[in-house]
Amino acid sequence: MKYIEEFQDPELARRLLDDIHATVTRPWALMEVCGGQTHTIIRHGIDQLLPEQIELIHGPGCPVCVTPLEVIDKALEIASRPEVIFCSFGDMLRVPGSGRDLFRVRSEGGDVRVVYSPLDALRIARQNPDREVVFFGIGFETTAPPNAMTVYQAKKLGIPNFSLLVSHVRVPPAIEAIMTSPSCRVQGFLAAGHVCSVMGMGEYPELAARHRVPIVVTGFEPLDILEGVRRAVLQLERGEHTVDNAYARAVRPEGNPAALAMLEDVFEVTDRAWRGIGVIPRSGWRLSARYRDFDAEHRFSVTDIATLEPAECRSGEVLQGLIKPHECEAFGTTCTPRNPLGATMVSSEGACAAYYLYRRLDIAAARKPETGTAAETAPETAPLEASPVV
Ligand code: SF4
Repeated sequence: MKYIEEFQDPELARRLLDDIHATVTRPWALMEVCGGQTHTIIRHGIDQLLPEQIELIHGPGCPVCVTPLEVIDKALEIASRPEVIFCSFGDMLRVPGSGRDLFRVRSEGGDVRVVYSPLDALRIARQNPDREVVFFGIGFETTAPPNAMTVYQAKKLGIPNFSLLVSHVRVPPAIEAIMTSPSCRVQGFLAAGHVCSVMGMGEYPELAARHRVPIVVTGFEPLDILEGVRRAVLQLERGEHTVDNAYARAVRPEGNPAALAMLEDVFEVTDRAWRGIGVIPRSGWRLSARYRDFDAEHRFSVTDIATLEPAECRSGEVLQGLIKPHECEAFGTTCTPRNPLGATMVSSEGACAAYYLYRRLDIAAARKPETGTAAETAPETAPLEASPVV
């Protein structure tokens, strides 16, 4: 197959579904790690087309969602300073900190700018040598290499007024944390193909063997998800637990050597807090000692931040797959994309946003019939094409 439409082909999807239905003999719980995969599943109704014995649990792989509140509050404090130009991808601007977000900082006079690449922030730093330019570097293994390269360039070019506020996280330690949690129900993983295209698959065989859990690396189109489910279920039914690459068109076992070398040079592994989950050992990156001068936390001495999570937000349970978004009391009522209480409702990869956008409102509607008619409670930005692939 060559073109993206071919990975949405209804006839091929039907065949994969038939295969899965014919294979399953008992209940299995699979976790899709990445928020992009969650959106594909909900948008195309894939979970509803699978045999009822298969449950898809939504994992913590949304970079915006897992960025800890403390880091958001540090971003807000730095962005409020008059000497600072604070640069970020657009989806971070609406993520609520303790009481406000970056949009609010901008409305209060802060110089907050949306950029499309960390290199844009570096260009802004060169154009404004009398200002401090900070880029908000968050995300998984996919966004870490360009951020590392930007810091490398800043050092090489001698741009002293550029710094990075870093909150990068890594997938394998999160899988380890999920599998060792007493409440874990996950029996197989659909691993994120784009992460493996950078990092390779080297860390997964040991995890699969130790936890006796199949890990299938897969992509983001409907057929990718169905093929990932098919391969995971096949392993589970056979009692196998190996790493399987179902995304060979993008993933090589060794990953991307140039990106890995850049990560190795600029970052070092550290413990990292995940929003709603807590600290996971060795689950993140920070700038290594050689690049400490470009670390915004170090440069602006933002410490002793007191954070305040909304008590009603259950995004931690959503991110761990313990509840579905519409089981949260606030879902679709006090928490909507327009007025989000938690990052999982803001982010384009958040599970709460996926359930809201693609009309998985039924539990909230049944629980709160007095909140209005269907028209009154309709999503603010629901896409029209939200229909199953077959
Ligand atoms: S629906 Fe809103 S309040 Fe509930 S878990 Fe999701 S983000 Fe938090």
